[in-house]
Amino acid sequence: MDFSSDIKEQVRSQTDIVALIGEAVALTPQRGGREHVGLCCFHDDHNPSMRVYADRQSYRCWVCNAGGDCFSFVQEREKVSFPEALEILAKRAGIKLPERGFRKSDDGSRSQIYEALLWAQELFHKTFLQDASAQPARDYIASRGMSDEMIKQFRIGYHPNSWDWLLGQARGKFKPEQLLAARLIGERDSGGYHDHFVDRVLFPIRNERAQAVGFGGRILPGNPHPAKYWNSPESPVFQKSKLVFALDAARDEIRKTETVLICEGYTDVIACHQYGVKNTVATLGTALTDQHVTTLKRFAKKVVLVYDGDDAGLAAAERVLERFIAQDVDLRILTLPGGHDPDEFLAAEGADALRQLIETAPEALDFKLKCLQAKYPIKTLDGRQRILEEMLEVVAAAPKSSQTVREGLLMVAIAEKLGLREEQVRSRLAEIRGQVAQRAPRRVAEESAAQLLPDETQRLYRGQLTIHDRMECELLEILAAAPGLVRFVREELDELDIRHPQLQLLLGLMVSHAERQSWSFQSFVGAMEDQGLKNLATWLDHQARSKDLTAKLRETGDDSEETCPPFLRRSIENLKWRREEQSQQHREASMSPELGEGSPPHDDFLRQALQFHQRRATKRTTA
Ligand SMILES: [Zn+2]
Repeated sequence: MDFSSDIKEQVRSQTDIVALIGEAVALTPQRGGREHVGLCCFHDDHNPSMRVYADRQSYRCWVCNAGGDCFSFVQEREKVSFPEALEILAKRAGIKLPERGFRKSDDGSRSQIYEALLWAQELFHKTFLQDASAQPARDYIASRGMSDEMIKQFRIGYHPNSWDWLLGQARGKFKPEQLLAARLIGERDSGGYHDHFVDRVLFPIRNERAQAVGFGGRILPGNPHPAKYWNSPESPVFQKSKLVFALDAARDEIRKTETVLICEGYTDVIACHQYGVKNTVATLGTALTDQHVTTLKRFAKKVVLVYDGDDAGLAAAERVLERFIAQDVDLRILTLPGGHDPDEFLAAEGADALRQLIETAPEALDFKLKCLQAKYPIKTLDGRQRILEEMLEVVAAAPKSSQTVREGLLMVAIAEKLGLREEQVRSRLAEIRGQVAQRAPRRVAEESAAQLLPDETQRLYRGQLTIHDRMECELLEILAAAPGLVRFVREELDELDIRHPQLQLLLGLMVSHAERQSWSFQSFVGAMEDQGLKNLATWLDHQARSKDLTAKLRETGDDSEETCPPFLRRSIENLKWRREEQSQQHREASMSPELGEGSPPHDDFLRQALQFHQRRATKRTTA
């Protein structure tokens, strides 16, 4: 699909990449706000390795090599195509895209799925509010004390007690295939379709951008159905292991407080929001996964798991503990007193009491220790041994980066509680850590887009540059640092002077881009759609920065007539020299006795050869 570079440029210029990435990753400003750093969201990052450059409107991760501009970021993060990324960013910037030729016609496209889900969300909500058949649903929600404001904000809905109601409502708007793609209906074994969510109160599940992606349906009291909750099946836009309920509503508050509260149920989450504890989310009826944790730690430093104070809560808390420790997140376990769920607790004690509990919730490892003490008799040697082993297994699962003061304190605490010497505890931990490391070799890094790049480019990223790569990269780095200099390059060199296939392509694009308009590096990257080339362009730019080429290009030479910076001049001359050397080799090869036997060398050739060898001699002495 071809978008005018105008619209791309307009969208790009209306998008601040720092704000955009800041919505997904907690960024810390550096160098007076010109750079920002944060945890990379494209690999499992423990030390902030993502850099975002405000002036260049670009980003780059030094570990997994993710990088590019605002379009690349959305493409990689949302796993969408360029047109979809453009659509997302245009919407975000309030820019209307030209309609014609834009919508894809296939029924399963993401934008069609989102459209069907939004339509269904609003229809379910209207039905809940207005339809006579929804009275039991309204009664149930009222019994939970949910305010009108929350009902509206969370778009609480209802699906009537009929297996083809939604299909009927959709007639003339969406084809059954579209509803199926959005998982709003299912297929019958005997052929044909049936509605999902029949006679259930519906909680729309929305993604970070507040788009409905699925629904959680709860049966009404008195319904004998065994499953209290039923969630939409997974779809291209709905993945339970990644999504959490209410992240769109909680995101700002999570970022502000750097804390996220995870409850067990949708109604608990809504109760928390209603009472003003808005940094609250829930998983979608599944246990917490690594992906959930990865998602949440982009926003929060502290994760508080909220459980009813019963045994099930304790057991659940224990289960997720290792996963969190391994992810190096400050995990707290909050068990509510008296077996209350958050809803009941808030009604009885209020929001401040809950905030107090959040503040003082014990760290996960402390919590684990407490659980183990309840499980094994600490008075016996065997009991103490078991507690020590189980405790250290959990600690050993934590990444190296978390071997911090916290761990030190924990070792002291364990030793104290179990009546052991600290060194004993530490050496046992070292042993267990060795065993754990053998059992589970570290995941060999990132399934990032970088792996899909051609080997030629990977070689550059890995720092395995040949002498030719170095010369070629330098030229392009200069152009990234000072795009205006492209005119000097154009006069003296062409694409074929670059051998590396991707760099060659990039130089060609730069030259033709510069011919069309006065260009900047951002507009150049923004105009490209190839993710690999974009990534390479930003890599070159970041190389240029780290070498401070801008300063090197300001150095002036002795020749006052020369307007081309000497640094660039040298770079151009090197490449020209390589070209000459190469063509001389070709000439010599073609004139060599083996190849051109019998034909005497031309005068022309002899003259060229003489000049070449003289120049090479001078070059050697001056270089
Ligand atoms: Zn990364």
